[in-house]
Amino acid sequence: QFENVGFIGLGNMGSRMANNLIKAGYKVTVHDINHNVIKMFTDMGVPSKQTPFEVAEASDVVITMLPSTSHVLDVYTGPNGLLYGGNIVRPRLLINSSTIDPETSRKLSATVSNFVLTEKKDQWEKPVMLDAPVSGGVLAAEAGTLTFMVGGCEEAYLAAKSLFLSMGKNSIYCGGAGTGSAAKICNNLAMAVSMIGVSEALALGQSLGIRADPLSKVFNSSTARCWSSDSYNPVPGVMQGVPASRDYTGGFSSKLMAKDLNLVAASAKLTGLKCPLTSQALEIYTELCEDGHEMKDFSCVFRHYYFGKDE
Ligand code: NAD
Repeated sequence: QFENVGFIGLGNMGSRMANNLIKAGYKVTVHDINHNVIKMFTDMGVPSKQTPFEVAEASDVVITMLPSTSHVLDVYTGPNGLLYGGNIVRPRLLINSSTIDPETSRKLSATVSNFVLTEKKDQWEKPVMLDAPVSGGVLAAEAGTLTFMVGGCEEAYLAAKSLFLSMGKNSIYCGGAGTGSAAKICNNLAMAVSMIGVSEALALGQSLGIRADPLSKVFNSSTARCWSSDSYNPVPGVMQGVPASRDYTGGFSSKLMAKDLNLVAASAKLTGLKCPLTSQALEIYTELCEDGHEMKDFSCVFRHYYFGKDE
């Protein structure tokens, strides 16, 4: 159904996702403002375009994987953006996989639904936008094992499912426009807080004379068990293959966590819901960034926040 796929934003995540689409046999056209990453693709014979608008003109579906809300708005509604040139577009489907706030996702989706298609096809009367952020980091993007959480029209989600499953191993339909973005920031809020909770408990345990190894074993067979304790333990040496065991390199940076918690805080403010743990977690990850650990994995909260160690 979607032979020609446009892909915009070929950074850590996007370059790997686009590669998996190419491997799955889609005809991919790429765009990024960074010429070095474009060269990597053009050297492999993948066509590139100078602007998002030109990508739209060449594609049945366009996927964006950009840093944050302002970049997404720029690529959609900026000069020579995807929606440039009146109210007509070629792509039947626009998928934003960047992590942005639910409000912007809803507004963009409404804007897209006011456009008309240059060429109607199959069941597509109008273009549709899906918000489809991902869970799983660079390794999952490389291995094609991401989880997509998707908001927007359900028929469009079903039509796009094979695209998601070329880049990931799970896709979950969350509901109307904006709910994919909402799912993503809620997931990261829970992850941010559970990582701090596990780190604080393990740090206190150490101060009380119990080593992190047996204490983690207790957690993992008791009610404190969670992803932060049993799959991504923040204490160096407790688990192999996690960022804590390689000086907190790789993984999900404190900077991205602080960015996502800012989105959570803004959304919480909009709804009027009291979210005290959001404010506290945001303060802690912001402090880590200010102390120079912004590129370290967010589990470094254990070492750098509780023990204040530089290395
Ligand atoms: P990145 O910074 O590595 O890549 C972003 C790419 O977008 C860069 O190549 C940049 O040149 C390009 N770009 C920026 N502005 C542009 C514009 N106006 N037009 C065209 N290209 C532009 O970011 P990333 O780590 O790939 O993350 C992308 C998104 O995925 C973010 O929203 C992030 O929160 C989310 N995410 C990241 C991870 C992770 O582990 N890295 C995991 C899950 C979700």
